[in-house]
Amino acid sequence: EAKRTGRNCTRYFLQTMNQELDERLRIESALRVALSAGHLQLHFQPKVHLQNLQLAGVEALLRWTDAQLGPVAPDVFIPIAEECGLINALDAWVLESACRQLAAWHEAGVAVPNVAVNVSALRFFQDDVAAHVGQLLERYQLAASQLTLEITERLLLDNAPQARSQLQALDVMGVRLSVDDFGTGYSSLSYLKQLPVSELKLDKSFVRDLETDADDRALSQAVISIGRALNLSVVAEGVETTAQYHVLRDLGCEVAQGYFFARPMAAADLPNWMAQSSPDRAF
Ligand code: C2E
Ligand code: MG
Ligand code: MG
Ligand code: MG
Repeated sequence: EAKRTGRNCTRYFLQTMNQELDERLRIESALRVALSAGHLQLHFQPKVHLQNLQLAGVEALLRWTDAQLGPVAPDVFIPIAEECGLINALDAWVLESACRQLAAWHEAGVAVPNVAVNVSALRFFQDDVAAHVGQLLERYQLAASQLTLEITERLLLDNAPQARSQLQALDVMGVRLSVDDFGTGYSSLSYLKQLPVSELKLDKSFVRDLETDADDRALSQAVISIGRALNLSVVAEGVETTAQYHVLRDLGCEVAQGYFFARPMAAADLPNWMAQSSPDRAF
């Protein structure tokens, strides 16, 4: 009996594995098509100064709706793109599209100070990233300080030695580097001394229970203090409620981002949001 159960378990396990593999392969090939056919989209989420609610910048976030698969979340397809080698082409597309969009906003008189792009640190193994960024800034007539690259703390830690010279070259140009999901990398902070970081993004897991959890409040306070001591701006992620907004502002956090202020939106919707969220609007 035990033997039969064991065999059934094995069969079930193999079936599940096959289904998962199938799903990954479907996503991978659909993603390849979407990228080359121009079916990917960027949405943009405002980063807001907490003192006056002015726009500090926007973060570009990939959106993909496949005809068969429906909407696929970046948390699902980015890891697949990383494994199958599509990520560099994907990041390159995002980087150029974000620069082109910022230039288009400026052209139209829409005052967006900065665009942030998420990059997989894998890109920094290639030694041409800084040159590529330089060409894009030139092509779209952007100042380097108008571009921020967000890299997750975990990826930054894993790749720090290889990434350092590229990050330094970008820093010399004036491009900003932001540490995404700060506080989730479980490691020493010494990399902050060695890498040219401009911004820390306080992970949303610390923000979620800010009203009720004294530990989360203490940790957020600590991150804000680190930012102040090292002269880095701190951006709180995932702000969804008035209470979270008020706690962060009272802790001295300067910039925040989250559904409370705005969801990620199509580029065409941003001017309208900016017009409605003027500083005198009571949040
Ligand atoms: P991230 O860079 O930390 O982005 C923040 C995520 O939190 C986004 O999810 C955003 O939509 C979501 N978010 C924003 N405000 C709130 C809020 O108030 N509450 C909650 N619960 N969530 C909020 P999204 O767009 O699904 O992206 C997930 C992750 O996928 C991103 O995390 C980033 O690591 C990655 N990603 C997204 N776009 C790109 C891209 O173009 N390139 C690369 N390499 N990675 C990307
Ligand atoms: Mg990000
Ligand atoms: Mg983040
Ligand atoms: Mg995060």
